[in-house]
Amino acid sequence: MTETRNSPELSIIVPLYNEEASVPILQSELNAALKGFDYEIIFVDDGSVDRTVERIEPKMNVRVIRFAKNAGQSAAIYAGLKAAHGATAVFIDGDLQNDPADIPRLLAEIARGADLVCGYRARRKDTRVKRLTSWIANTVRSRFTKDGVRDTGCTLKAMRRECVDALVPFKGMHRFIPALVKGAGYRLVEIPVNHRLRRFGHSKYGLGNRAWRATVDMFGVRWLLSRRLNYKIRERT
Ligand code: UDP
Ligand code: MG
Repeated sequence: MTETRNSPELSIIVPLYNEEASVPILQSELNAALKGFDYEIIFVDDGSVDRTVERIEPKMNVRVIRFAKNAGQSAAIYAGLKAAHGATAVFIDGDLQNDPADIPRLLAEIARGADLVCGYRARRKDTRVKRLTSWIANTVRSRFTKDGVRDTGCTLKAMRRECVDALVPFKGMHRFIPALVKGAGYRLVEIPVNHRLRRFGHSKYGLGNRAWRATVDMFGVRWLLSRRLNYKIRERT
């Protein structure tokens, strides 16, 4: 392994579940957007049953984690983070809805001192129903968990890797990364990002498997944050 592979500055983490048509395009878009950066891409295949894995181009800076079976987007992101070597991690969807060209702007905020930079989709390219339910969910969640973030459903984020300590691995965690990280005292920044129509495949979520679970999780996260261990060591001998 080269030095770059062991300790790149950046780890790009991509959860993939049946995204065979998108993955080659995403890989070339990432390479174009990150020219000049020292990065690794960690593709986490979440039990795809199509040719997603075969469509990933093997390269020195590409790593692939394959789950035995579908475990969910939170598991994919968490496994990617645990495997990451970069000082900064970037999460991006594998379906081309997020735009890799936004990544340098996220990194600029990290360089300015943010611990977590959350993209928000200024002009969302989703169905009306999805936009409405997402707006309700975001409004309720940001008040309830006090994360103050307008769009956690936007996967595109950059995070100092040490913030992983603030995360609790549960199914649905990916929607509460800002709440958990902010609750641990880290600095959050939001920036507008591009959003694109899904060109290939289909969304893995519907009303039923998102709204209800996310609501239940919201209560859990609020409880967890209210019960966080909070201590300062005065002296250690
Ligand atoms: N995804 C995943 N495991 C799942 C569901 C989704 O890895 O069980 C990935 C999916 O392949 C995509 C990202 O998570 O890269 C976001 O999923 P999707 O586009 O379906 O969500 P939406 O944009 O509809 O919110
Ligand atoms: Mg999508």
